[in-house]
Amino acid sequence: MAAVTPTKVTFTQGQCELDSVVQLAQPTPDGDIYVVTETTPFHPVSHIWPDHPADRGTLTADGKSADVKDCLTGAFNTADGTLHVGKDIPVKRDEEGWHFVVVHLIDSGIDIKTGDTVSLLVDADYQQALSRGHSGAHLTALALNKVLHEGYWRKEASRIDPLGHYDFHSYAEQTSFVEADRCIDSYRLGKTLRKRGLNSADMVADLADIETKVNLILAEWLTAGEGVNMARKGDTLTDSRYWQSKAGGQDIEIPCGGTHIQSFKELGSLKVKLVANSDQEVVMTTLTTPAR
Ligand SMILES: [Zn+2]
Repeated sequence: MAAVTPTKVTFTQGQCELDSVVQLAQPTPDGDIYVVTETTPFHPVSHIWPDHPADRGTLTADGKSADVKDCLTGAFNTADGTLHVGKDIPVKRDEEGWHFVVVHLIDSGIDIKTGDTVSLLVDADYQQALSRGHSGAHLTALALNKVLHEGYWRKEASRIDPLGHYDFHSYAEQTSFVEADRCIDSYRLGKTLRKRGLNSADMVADLADIETKVNLILAEWLTAGEGVNMARKGDTLTDSRYWQSKAGGQDIEIPCGGTHIQSFKELGSLKVKLVANSDQEVVMTTLTTPAR
């Protein structure tokens, strides 16, 4: 049985192109091919928290290129040699005998075998647009926390964000979707959050004012043009990764699996829109543009 090792990833280091050896090429139930390589520049969508879309790009073997139609997280069972993809992964990341891998989905039009060397090329423009949206969203969440901390909590909350503010974002976040140059976070303002001390009715009533304040903070933070670093415990897909930057001169570290810009100088603008869908739900849209 061929050895399939945990995939080494380079998307945290900003590397978009490399050659690697195929460890597994297997037909899918739909007639496509799953390709697993030793190393990849592709960021796969997470099967647990699919907030950041898969990278796009191409895989080239023997002079023939195929689009990577999707890029998924997989787990290879070393005992029986089976590959489990996406929602079919039955184990957690540290389970003995399972190797987590990046699975490239391509059309069956090209001939790929285990042991072949293939070229992997990520669509850097698309990845950077996702990275701008994702890095921007980390700052907007912190700026929203700051504004709410200063006027919308009547009790102390135990969960504090990296800037020392009550962590509304973490308490209330229901879903998060990164897209090219944007991120959409939806927040639930339920009974529990009111009991914790958030004056959610005031928050909804003052939403336009809060939006203005958040945008002022973001403009100030952006001016500093801080760097962004992805610290990681190792080079495989499941090694813990941390987003590190600064806002208002203070250090920030957030556990995060996505792809990111390397500096806030890469943003031309960073803004939020806040909309209340009901008295129970607020949607925050983070909008970024590339620097010119
Ligand atoms: Zn993140």
